[in-house]
Amino acid sequence: KTYIVCLGELLIDFVPEINGQALADVTSFQRAAGGAPANVAAAVAKLGGDARFIGKIGRDPFGDFLVRTLDEVGVQTAVVQTDEAKTGLAFVSLRADGERDFLFFRDPAADMLLRADEVQSQWLEDAAVYHFGSVSLIAEPCRTATLDAAQRAKDLGALVSYDPNVRLALWPSADAARAEILAQLPLADVVKVSEEEIEFLLGVDATTGAQQLLQRGPKVIIITLGPEGCRVVSARQDVVIPGTPVAAVDTTGAGDSFVGGMLFQLASLSVTPANIVDALAEAGVAERVFDFANRVGAITTTRRGAIPALPTLAEVE
Ligand code: ATP
Repeated sequence: KTYIVCLGELLIDFVPEINGQALADVTSFQRAAGGAPANVAAAVAKLGGDARFIGKIGRDPFGDFLVRTLDEVGVQTAVVQTDEAKTGLAFVSLRADGERDFLFFRDPAADMLLRADEVQSQWLEDAAVYHFGSVSLIAEPCRTATLDAAQRAKDLGALVSYDPNVRLALWPSADAARAEILAQLPLADVVKVSEEEIEFLLGVDATTGAQQLLQRGPKVIIITLGPEGCRVVSARQDVVIPGTPVAAVDTTGAGDSFVGGMLFQLASLSVTPANIVDALAEAGVAERVFDFANRVGAITTTRRGAIPALPTLAEVE
């Protein structure tokens, strides 16, 4: 089994051609493929790994563009097209004060309509890793599709990876987000979070929080630290793997490409749910895996956009 299978949202981000304006003032937007799980699949494929993306898009020109974008980067697309809703859109701007404005068109968007019975068994059978996030947990039926596929992949022996990637603007309330995101931790073997996400989810600092997350079931917690790199916490280790210094121009997609780099490495080491803790605690292994993931994340920040900024294996090495 070699595939890294990512399931979730695939949508269009419209980003301003010029930064520093409130969304109400932006006059010109550029189209970009978006959706965190799709970015992770693209990162794996760009590195030369076997990546599959499972999701749902509208039968419309934006859906066609998204499938073409994933195809071009080498992701195998297991994508259902529907007439019931259009491909999701998100308008995003980076204001002068550094805050982001979001305007979502998902009432509903096609990705929210993915059903469990549409996820074919053969899409999960060759999964070394199954990866999901929390945006597809916000609404039914795609919440059940995400969790059902996670359980099926897990039963088939896949390593389950979860990036909560909190996007509060999409949830009915902060409490609803916290409760649902925490409820799905027991499904996961590997969880990637930021320090801010730990504080939001548990109301404690990252050191206490990492231990609390481990108690909820996952075997390894990865805390991303931006330019400082990341911290790897399991029952057998707690180490910081320093970041790679770069001149960052746009951090869009850094977290997703970091996850892609990490999963690419874990799959190439044939890591399983049963051996991941011991494998990463062996001398030098966590350092190798996460220095690689840090480099993938770092390179992504040196170029604009998410998918267009992803590095090849040669660049990382
Ligand atoms: P999101 O992309 O949703 O913000 P995140 O908070 O996990 O996700 P970051 O911590 O900003 O993302 O970045 C992920 C990884 O990318 C970091 O752990 C690091 O390896 C790398 N990285 C990010 N920013 C930089 C930077 N300025 N310089 C070097 N490496 C970086």
